[in-house]
Amino acid sequence: MRFSDLTTLGVGGEISDLVEAQTNADAVSAALDARNRGVPILVVGGGSNLLASDDEFDGRVIALRTRGIDTSRDDDTVRVRVAAGEDWDEFVAWTVDNGLAGLEALSGIPGRAGAAPIQNIGAYGQEVADVVRGVDILDLVTGELRYLERRELQFAYRDSIFKQGLDAIVLSVEFDLQDARATRLSRPVAFAQLASALDVELGNQVALEVAREAVLSLRKSKGMVLDSHDPDTRSAGSFFVNPVVTEGFARTLPADAPRFFLGDDAGDRILEIGADVPPLAGPSMVKLSAAWLIEHAGIPRGFSLPGSRAGVSTKHTLALTNRGGATAEEIAALARYVRSMVQSQFGVLLQPEPVLIGVDL
Ligand SMILES: Cc1cc2nc3c(=O)[nH]c(=O)nc-3n(C[C@H](O)[C@H](O)[C@H](O)COP(=O)(O)OP(=O)(O)OC[C@H]3O[C@@H](n4cnc5c(N)ncnc54)[C@H](O)[C@@H]3O)c2cc1C
Repeated sequence: MRFSDLTTLGVGGEISDLVEAQTNADAVSAALDARNRGVPILVVGGGSNLLASDDEFDGRVIALRTRGIDTSRDDDTVRVRVAAGEDWDEFVAWTVDNGLAGLEALSGIPGRAGAAPIQNIGAYGQEVADVVRGVDILDLVTGELRYLERRELQFAYRDSIFKQGLDAIVLSVEFDLQDARATRLSRPVAFAQLASALDVELGNQVALEVAREAVLSLRKSKGMVLDSHDPDTRSAGSFFVNPVVTEGFARTLPADAPRFFLGDDAGDRILEIGADVPPLAGPSMVKLSAAWLIEHAGIPRGFSLPGSRAGVSTKHTLALTNRGGATAEEIAALARYVRSMVQSQFGVLLQPEPVLIGVDL
């Protein structure tokens, strides 16, 4: 088996030690055995957020294929525990079918449930951090099974304790979802593009199924739902995260560069004449659009380096795609070029969103 068979980008070298874990017991024993022998471990779900090098992987790959969804009630929320190996979008469809609100805007994201908390997946105004209650993990440092509560997971934009270095396998994820079986209404729509596609105001609720269908259709138009007939979906999704910079830096960018102010808006402050001026809480942070920066650095959709089989998606500047037979090095070379163009034009160093295995940008 090769990484090219296990990843949505379809690139990457040989895996000589692959364990496909059907149960938590399989996953735990495969991981502890490798750990005790000092063998590096890589966990793989759907391979939709991975760029692995063309070289053979020096370690054990554990592919999580565990299944199972359990529910229990808690007032107006329903607690749902999902096994790490469940397909993410099938799970979201299950929540919608069962009248549970909170994940409908995350429809169509590829991958498996165990990876959802790793980078705190998000789309169209929802993030898993909003509804995760906790996760069951195998701690690969201590070898212990533990439950981590939401507050311990250090969720932030595309970030969590796992991205910060906690070496662990997520065995299952527990969610608190809103019981919408009576109304079948979604959570309030929190993303302007989705509200406009639904023809409602921001903050309105729509039928759960309607929200899911609108998200799937928006995603399809951008090549963001896996489709074997659409070469633009042979990607790892967005290759770069939206940069977060200080407000001062954001002001140096062209006037039409999109900027999203993060944090609480303090509003105007009125001080008595002669009163001490309170210190500023810290620099205000602003999120930029990586897609805008790439396009305005002169890289159009469909762009490719001469002779390369890697290309920017024809539908979405943020996705780097394998046009057929590309190597990991070709994807990495394109990523380096995009990064260097944005850095020289705007002074912003884009950070990759996928996990890089044996690849340097
Ligand atoms: C077309 C497309 C669209 C996408 N759209 C979005 C989007 O809208 N929003 C978004 O946030 N992401 C998006 N992504 C990225 C990706 O789908 C998500 O990050 C997804 O959660 C990855 O799941 P996976 O099972 O494929 O993880 P993998 O790619 O298999 O793994 C990703 C990382 O998580 C680790 N990991 C996986 N499972 C576990 C586990 N059980 N325990 C510990 N570590 C684990 C792996 O070791 C690796 O470091 C998109 C990707 C594609 C291809």
